[in-house]
Amino acid sequence: MAKLIVSDLDVTDKKVLIRVDFNVPIKDGVIGDDNRIVAALPTINYVIDNGGKAILLSHLGRIKTEEDKAKLSLRPVAERLSELLKKPVTFVPATRGKELEDAINNMKDGDVLVMENTRFEDLDGKKESKNDPELGKYWASLGDLYVNDAFGTAHRAHASNVGISSNMPQAAAGFLMEKEIKFLGDAVENPRHPFVAILGGAKVSDKIGVISNLLNKADKIIVGGGMTYTFYAAKGLTVGKSLVETDKIDLAKQIMAEAGDKLVLPVDNVVATEFANDAPHKVVEGNIPDGYMALDIGPKAIEDFKKVLADAKTVVWNGPMGVFEMPNYAKGTLEIGKALGELKDATTIIGGGDSTAAAKQLGIAPQITHISTGGGASLEYLEGKELPGIAAITNK
Ligand code: AMP
Repeated sequence: MAKLIVSDLDVTDKKVLIRVDFNVPIKDGVIGDDNRIVAALPTINYVIDNGGKAILLSHLGRIKTEEDKAKLSLRPVAERLSELLKKPVTFVPATRGKELEDAINNMKDGDVLVMENTRFEDLDGKKESKNDPELGKYWASLGDLYVNDAFGTAHRAHASNVGISSNMPQAAAGFLMEKEIKFLGDAVENPRHPFVAILGGAKVSDKIGVISNLLNKADKIIVGGGMTYTFYAAKGLTVGKSLVETDKIDLAKQIMAEAGDKLVLPVDNVVATEFANDAPHKVVEGNIPDGYMALDIGPKAIEDFKKVLADAKTVVWNGPMGVFEMPNYAKGTLEIGKALGELKDATTIIGGGDSTAAAKQLGIAPQITHISTGGGASLEYLEGKELPGIAAITNK
């Protein structure tokens, strides 16, 4: 369903509350990767260029103790934002109270203000994360309009997204949110065929929902990574010391029966004696021998997967094909990433931190149609679930 977008709003002279996703990696006050701040710029610029006042709310990490506050202040993020916008940004070290209210009331059109980390409210009864009704109402009272641009948090009902939305006459999506909904939505609901999903990563349990939802939508589902070996066990192959979720073997059997030849598993694997880069390792087909664990897909599997990908028109990739953090087991993930980057005339979508890291390592990110900013949120979207943060945005 089409959603109200920030560009549908008349923001002039208005106090616009914008929920952004500034949950960036940060250590000793230094930001590791400012991608998420950059991704929020179009919405912020739209509001201030059109004479609105941009009041930004975001969480950063998890606040469990008083000490976490010093490490997870949004102050450095506000400073980085000021550099990126090339204009002053007011930072308010509070999530409520007179200082915040005065700062907002003193804003002029085109000004930008960053409020302190919304999760500071979690120290007192998890008010942000549990969507405390009073908190959402209070934050909503600080602005005239509300825009949600934080796709990464859309799978959670928090005070700063669902709480504010439900206390405003309407809630609009920001441009980043709009882009995420468009690409993931089209892939799931209206893909160009052949539609291929590539699923990897450690656990079947994390991806079962995605496999089930995509079974009758995708033409092929490629499975790699640690989750493969639960399927191996379900097929009656030996798995050695590989990662297997024994309580999911029956489910894997069911999925295989339903999927038939839609499900593509690796025919060979790189197996090692230990979970270590320099452990003795070799390539084996089929059964994983005793005393070995499978840590990457093998060369035949890479070729098989590339053939499946060759004529794909829509590809969704989530999760590495092996333990790609260790160079000896990175080849499967990197080769699949490379194949994705080389596809012509295909819509390619990557979700999840590890696949995104692999795409960046390969330098193929510019060739990918859409790299989702939300790991958990993109998975839940692919599972076909309704995301509370998106549901709370007004339909057009
Ligand atoms: P996920 O967070 O579920 O996407 O899983 C990512 C993690 O899965 C990465 O840290 C990989 O090292 C790990 N992984 C991938 N393949 C394997 C494997 N064959 N055995 C153990 N761990 C794996």
